[in-house]
Amino acid sequence: MQFIETRGNDGNRAEKIDFSDAILSPSASYGGLYVPESLPAMDSIFLRKHLDSHYKELAADFLQAFEIDIDSAIITEALDRYDTFDDPSDPVPLVQIEEDCFVSELYHGKTRAFKDMALQPFGYILSTLAQKRGENYLIMAATSGDTGPATLETFKNQPNVKVACIYPSGGTSDVQRLQMVTEDAENIKVIGIKGNFDDAQSSLKELLSSQEFRDELTRRNIKLSAANSVNFGRIIFQIIYHIHSYLELVRKKIIALGDPIYMVVPSGNFGNALGAYYAKKAGLPIKKILIASNINNILTDWIKTGIYDLTDRDLIQTESPAMDILKSSNIERVMFDKFGGARTKELLEALNEKGKFQLSPDELKSLREDFDATFSDDAEGEAVIAEYAQKNYIMDPHTATSLKAYHNLRNEKLPTIIYSTAEWTKFSTTVSRALGHPVASDLDALKWVSKNKAIEVPDMISTLFDKAIKHTVVVDQKSIKEEMLKFL
Ligand SMILES: *Cc1c(COP(=O)(O)O)cnc(C)c1O
Repeated sequence: MQFIETRGNDGNRAEKIDFSDAILSPSASYGGLYVPESLPAMDSIFLRKHLDSHYKELAADFLQAFEIDIDSAIITEALDRYDTFDDPSDPVPLVQIEEDCFVSELYHGKTRAFKDMALQPFGYILSTLAQKRGENYLIMAATSGDTGPATLETFKNQPNVKVACIYPSGGTSDVQRLQMVTEDAENIKVIGIKGNFDDAQSSLKELLSSQEFRDELTRRNIKLSAANSVNFGRIIFQIIYHIHSYLELVRKKIIALGDPIYMVVPSGNFGNALGAYYAKKAGLPIKKILIASNINNILTDWIKTGIYDLTDRDLIQTESPAMDILKSSNIERVMFDKFGGARTKELLEALNEKGKFQLSPDELKSLREDFDATFSDDAEGEAVIAEYAQKNYIMDPHTATSLKAYHNLRNEKLPTIIYSTAEWTKFSTTVSRALGHPVASDLDALKWVSKNKAIEVPDMISTLFDKAIKHTVVVDQKSIKEEMLKFL
């Protein structure tokens, strides 16, 4: 399988590249992204074959069908990372919460958010490729709280890769911050900056565009890659759990193989939703993908009206911070798939230059064949958390935004999978407040919710509070370069 570019080719790069090159150097011509030339068929033959497969078996066969240029032995070892999940025999459990509504829990990995699903195997593959090629890579991530811990966890102590995470000091939950600053390994650096997530992101952008910094990397023979969902190496693993979750409904005899279902995806950068879109396109019987957002509802506007408009918006901080995003990277891959490279380039250049773009009526119609969308504010999210806690299901504020999509967007009463993207333990103060007990610290919230709802806090969260802090650096945006040079 070869990979091509979403905004066409600038003549300076190869027109088609292998998977390994697309993940090591993920930036394509004109600021575009890499996408596969085609998708393997997830037809009824493939699905039937995997009715009784373990998650890893399904994943291995899917990756083989994708024909990526990674040895099967490396793929096997990468997938063994799922053995570190809570229940290695069932890394992605499906839990029923309504007669026709099921939660696919994507958070049972080490850092308790769905980022582990892709970053765990992806990190192993990237480091192994770097070793084979004798190259050294730097991965830099600005994080609002979930990408950082998952990126550090997957790359810590891996040869030929260094990782730096920049987080907004005071802008993450205690648990998220501790997950990063207690991480102990030679090859990682964690930097807090004074400011919010936007500031963290813009200081990273500034650093990456600094010629002095780039020269320094060249001098030290270090190449840059990326671990966010612009990297297709993450997306490929985010197709698999949609197939798995569908097959779970068949195994539970809720549907017969071939029956259509809805999927609800709490979305920010649209990587998770893109995985569902590729699964649908490859043949998985998904009626529609329903996008859930918070009040940063630019995706709802886009899918309802075809207009993507940044000009009248400021980012609003919410209780679901992983979805506090206005420039959603992966809609680009959907547009490429539907409208082609020339049109995608035109639309995204309009976004860069004028801050907005608009789809034609036909383009909007095509988008709405696969997607619909809605959003919830924090109060609505808290009400959902409280409602399901009554029924003894505790969910996090990102997952909670899905319920409105489930109630309001289905044209037919088909069985529905909603994706739980984080464990409640990462956002415990919000959960505690939703249950009528506002407290200031994560530790108090974890204790109270766990006691009152008789739900366990996993060891990897409860032990964080006693671990030694290894990274104490909190700096102004302008001091980041200096900190990075020290690290390198
Ligand atoms: C990253 C994240 C999301 C958003 O996922 P995208 O793939 O960027 O749309 C949603 N919820 C949680 C908890 C996350 O960590």
